[in-house]
Amino acid sequence: MSQVFFASARAKKWKYDDSMPGKLERLLKEFNLSKYCGPQEWVAIKTHLGSEGAHRIIRPVFLRKVVEALRTCGAKPFVTDTVRIKGLDYLDVANQNGLNHLSVGAPVILADGLYGNDNIMVKGIDILNEIAIASVIYDVPAMVVCSHIKGHIQSGYAGAIKNIAMGGVSSRHRECGWKCGRGAMHTLGEGMLSWDKEKCELCYQCMEICPLDAIKFVDDQLEWDTNKCWRCGRCERVCQSKGLSLPGNEQRFMRSLAEAAKLVLDTFKPQKVIYLNFLTEIQPECDCMPVADVPVIQDQGILMSDDIVSIEQASVDLLLKAPPLPQSFADEKQIVPGDDILFKLSERDYHLQFEAAESLGLGTRSYELIEI
Ligand code: SF4
Ligand code: SF4
Repeated sequence: MSQVFFASARAKKWKYDDSMPGKLERLLKEFNLSKYCGPQEWVAIKTHLGSEGAHRIIRPVFLRKVVEALRTCGAKPFVTDTVRIKGLDYLDVANQNGLNHLSVGAPVILADGLYGNDNIMVKGIDILNEIAIASVIYDVPAMVVCSHIKGHIQSGYAGAIKNIAMGGVSSRHRECGWKCGRGAMHTLGEGMLSWDKEKCELCYQCMEICPLDAIKFVDDQLEWDTNKCWRCGRCERVCQSKGLSLPGNEQRFMRSLAEAAKLVLDTFKPQKVIYLNFLTEIQPECDCMPVADVPVIQDQGILMSDDIVSIEQASVDLLLKAPPLPQSFADEKQIVPGDDILFKLSERDYHLQFEAAESLGLGTRSYELIEI
């Protein structure tokens, strides 16, 4: 059984110690970071820098607390993510979302370079053949994985596993493009997009949201480029009229997430990676979408552990106890207290990723929750 430390989001006293930043400070002290990183050691703080329009990421004040705690141990931290849109634009987006050297107290850098193709190819385990891990993540000796918890088009729940699987791997490799980057995970869904002309309202949202320009309309007919498409599911998600469907193999996709997470973690020695899950501003979509809808679940707090599976299970257990928020997407979908809100929002069997991670030896779903 692993330990998971928890700081509740509720502030019951009018004291700094009872605030979220104050509790995070206590959490970081309690955890004894010096067990995980040494003096002068470079430490990656892996997070998601957000998107233009998706502002509900981990706030700079929290990342700054992690930076300060690492500096107290003598470590040299930096905040990082892999390229999602063009590298320079992604740094601009991070800055726009409030994440920069001044706000977090450490450099904010791209783990796979400005062009997103600075990566090291590693051999897969079972269903992934080979995958391009961002070179900074491959080389850095220690990492604090800071994950903003939310829903996700394909994984249903997006936490630490998804953060390092999709986010520790580059979007493309110099030679084989997206096929051995994070697209290798998407395509394990193996779905074929189908378009129902009768239902289509020609709103073109699918075309506009496609990150790879795999959809175009010619004479009001949708043309889909199957070779360009990496099956991310965005087009299906935004189609309000149900004119698009992209059936996939959920089991293989979830397993691929767990495999990629393991491949990323295997580049570290034991006891060099710790996890902070922020159950705050829990919105239905990934931070890479162009919007962040209102939260579907009230802020729960911050969890910390050195076991990735335990922290994911503890996060989900807390989320499932919370009632859906009024006026949110959950309310619109008539989700009621007691429902599995994550499943009802996405219709994805998100538990599969934890089961696969546990079977790969990444940790245990059995945990002890220690509230500070
Ligand atoms: S999003 Fe749906 S309705 Fe809009 S153009 Fe695409 S298929 Fe048609
Ligand atoms: S799944 Fe849809 S949005 Fe994603 S790459 Fe393919 S066509 Fe584009």
